[in-house]
Amino acid sequence: MHWGIDIGGTTTILGYLKPGGFKKAATLRTDPLSGPDSLLRKISKKINEADRAPCSAGAGIAGLVNRSKGLLVSSPNLPGWKDYLIREKLSDILNCPVVIDNDCNVFAIQAIESSSIPDSGLWLMITLGTGIGGTIIHEGSILYGSGYAGEFGHMTVEATGKNCLCGSKGCWERYAASEALSDYYRKHSCNSIHYSPKEIARLASTKQDAALSAFEEFGTWLGIGLANLYHCFSPDGVFLAGGLMGASEFFLRSAESEFHRRCPFVWNVNVLPSSSDAGAEGAAIMGRNRTG
Ligand SMILES: [Zn+2]
Repeated sequence: MHWGIDIGGTTTILGYLKPGGFKKAATLRTDPLSGPDSLLRKISKKINEADRAPCSAGAGIAGLVNRSKGLLVSSPNLPGWKDYLIREKLSDILNCPVVIDNDCNVFAIQAIESSSIPDSGLWLMITLGTGIGGTIIHEGSILYGSGYAGEFGHMTVEATGKNCLCGSKGCWERYAASEALSDYYRKHSCNSIHYSPKEIARLASTKQDAALSAFEEFGTWLGIGLANLYHCFSPDGVFLAGGLMGASEFFLRSAESEFHRRCPFVWNVNVLPSSSDAGAEGAAIMGRNRTG
């Protein structure tokens, strides 16, 4: 079978392609502090329980991935997982060809395959969650540049801004991802308790002023980044996805207003349907297509 693995900062999802679709086989806790070897052992145990002779495996990983070397260079969400030869290790323990890419790209592969993203024109996919992921899609293919294109989350939006786990400062994901939203809520509610994006969305749905203001500020930063990307790429449009999109009704309007204040382009920003399995499915498709 062709297996797909989506390794996120908190959970890892795996499954396989079956006629007409994808079947999720397991959700594992990533537990970054136990290190990558421990997770790979858990993954191979699960896969081998169901399939003694896998045909291929694809893995999407939340981090900077060198595809040609099969290397996880670094990951802000997986502290300590540095310069790790994940493709070779996985290939050894599964005894099958393995392909790796970053998590946003494998998500995009699933969206292209399912025709959620058009196969003509230039499109950007952006995931909003713990961090910001990005993928550039041209004529149905992902553009990699010299290897790492699409790291929109680490585009500087404040020259002397907040420190980022990547080592830079003022990165977009420090202003338009989960932690930033919680920070805005703390500020607007004058409350030092940490609220999750889900809780803030619930408060916004009751029209609580602080929650609405937090989302408005979040949207403003989203609009700033989107205007930058439109200036750079002049895309046909953008697809947004990720954990924060369930609350998009509270921030897309302010994002659009800020966007129009900063650029003359047509706002074509769409929300991709959410699916927690899409990354693992895209990884499986990638493995099948590139090892075939
Ligand atoms: Zn950064």
